[in-house]
Amino acid sequence: MALLDAYLARTPRSRELFERATRSLPGGSTRTTVFSAPYPPYIAAGEGLAIRDVDGNLYRDFLGNYTALILGHAHPAVVAAVEAQVRRGSAFAAPTETEIELAEELRRRLPSIERLRFTNSGTEATMFAIRAARAFTGRPLVAKFERSYHGTHDGVMAGTAGVPAAMAGLAVELPWEDADGVERALRGHERDLAAIIIEPVQGAGGVRPASRDFLAFLRTFADRHGALLIFDEIISFRVGPHGAQGVVAVRPDLTTLGKVIGGGYALAAFGGRADVMDLFDARRAGSLSHGGTFNGNPVAAAAGLATLRELTPDVFVRLDALGERLRAKVAAAIGRDGLEARIAVVGSLFQVWSGEGVSAVVTGIGDVPELFLGLLLDGFYVAPRGMGAIPAIATESDVDALAAAIERVILGMQRVPQVA
Ligand code: PMP
Repeated sequence: MALLDAYLARTPRSRELFERATRSLPGGSTRTTVFSAPYPPYIAAGEGLAIRDVDGNLYRDFLGNYTALILGHAHPAVVAAVEAQVRRGSAFAAPTETEIELAEELRRRLPSIERLRFTNSGTEATMFAIRAARAFTGRPLVAKFERSYHGTHDGVMAGTAGVPAAMAGLAVELPWEDADGVERALRGHERDLAAIIIEPVQGAGGVRPASRDFLAFLRTFADRHGALLIFDEIISFRVGPHGAQGVVAVRPDLTTLGKVIGGGYALAAFGGRADVMDLFDARRAGSLSHGGTFNGNPVAAAAGLATLRELTPDVFVRLDALGERLRAKVAAAIGRDGLEARIAVVGSLFQVWSGEGVSAVVTGIGDVPELFLGLLLDGFYVAPRGMGAIPAIATESDVDALAAAIERVILGMQRVPQVA
């Protein structure tokens, strides 16, 4: 494949690092989602939209650590907040005022969150939200949706290797946007149901938004059966100043957050109704334990706070406009060139599919993802599966350049070979 040869030629130092990595890290990688065949480019530095790999290749980064870096890399306000905190110390076995400030800022943005707790990752956030729902309801079952992604703990990975078969008995898979299907899947189990967990906009599932009607149906269904409704907004929080829940005006009982709220550092959260979250109140007998050496880490909290302060309502208006611009340009190119391709955009999140991938969800890990490689060679960084996110520091011309690159790469992939 010409793309592959060109990539190999341009990334000898990344290849060297990858080969070295395979001796210490299984498959040379410590994060499933950042491996792509033959090996990913190793990044040396990032500033604003630009990232540079160890071979000196520059990319416009339209992934931003899987949607986390909404202000781009090394934003001056975030760097200043982090530097100031680092000089005061990185972490203490004691609370800080910064964690309160971040909690208050999140409550202002998401009125459904009356109380919250910080974690280090989205995986922990969904794990504890589910734990809270089970403890509050005294019920075992959790329902989640086809193509959902809620992290990697056993409770959301039933059916995969290493997760005891018994976990499958505690999870129900629901069909997307299908109210009758949800009722059917849960019929007879309603009184065992602790929670329904849903991404209001699926990320890994292909930037797929749930409709307001469907989320309202889930709200009513959960209430009718005494179960909790959990919105996993770890990705979708960035679609508006009040997250996706603000856009659809449906109030969940619990919400999980991550990515953006840590400003590029390791921080996530779960929160919601006070009567549920107060199960973690250590002053109460039998409270739920929630340790974590780095919970509410002040460096990450300072970065998150600095990030949220930059995210004024007009920034979201601009992000929406950039998202719509990308959608319109790519859709026009697909029509003009007769490409077998599709684009989905919600706010600043996007997903591009091409060729056989049009009906698929995620490119197989073992395959060389052509769209990804083609965009890399054109100087754009997106997820190997074709997902990305436009950061607030991107300009219209950056977005236009991305749209043109997507068109060029897909055209190249789908051009019928000419017989000489
Ligand atoms: N939920 C959703 C919707 C996510 O997109 C992710 C991460 N991509 C997670 C949970 C897990 O978060 P983390 O990677 O921080 O553990």
